[in-house]
Formats: sequence, C-alpha cells, structure tokens
Amino acid sequence: MSDRPNLDKLIIGTREQSEDCDCVVCAPYDGINLGLPDNLTGTCHKCGCAVQFRPSSPKKPPRMCWDCMLIELAKHEDDGDEDAFMITPKTLEEISEYLNNLNKKKSH
Ligand SMILES: [Zn+2]
Repeated sequence: MSDRPNLDKLIIGTREQSEDCDCVVCAPYDGINLGLPDNLTGTCHKCGCAVQFRPSSPKKPPRMCWDCMLIELAKHEDDGDEDAFMITPKTLEEISEYLNNLNKKKSH
C-alpha cells in the first residue's frame, strides 16, 4: 500500500457525470462549522459520521467521508477495482491539505 493515495483516480466531475458515479466524497462536518453557510449536511454511508456538501452536489450516489474514501482508495489499489468517486476541485484541495498535515504529523 502506498503512503499517499492516488487522488488522480477520482473523478472531478461535472454534475451530469456525477449522478452516475459510485460515491460522492464529502468534507467532514463537526456539527458546528460549515464550509459555506448554505452547505447541506448528511451522513457517510460507510461509517455514519456527519458530512457536509454543496446543495448542488449529486443526490443519487451515496456520500462518503474523506477517511472512508482513503480506505476505499487503498482497497481499490489492492483489488484493481475502478469505482468512480465524484469529488469537487475544492474538496480535492482540502483533502490534499489534510493529507499533507497528516504526513507532517507523522514525521515528527
Ligand atoms: Zn465515513
């Protein structure tokens, strides 16, 4: 398993594409801070934690938090599966930052 997940495999989708994807990756929601005031909240279909997403994000596919997405990605790398996750450029940016911070913490 590689140290860094391959984020390139994720779809950064248009809304039309994303209605057909396997999962929508959402930012975690701590119950207090919304990324944007009109964000909607829901739960991760894997672990049941709270997530937040834009009102414009696709409704049909299940939602998944970052942590579960990373686990799924790692699994896919092992299995060679090619499930499609929908992720917005903004969320991708946030996850990259999150991973950078994790790596920083590890090296201490
Ligand atoms: Zn989760």
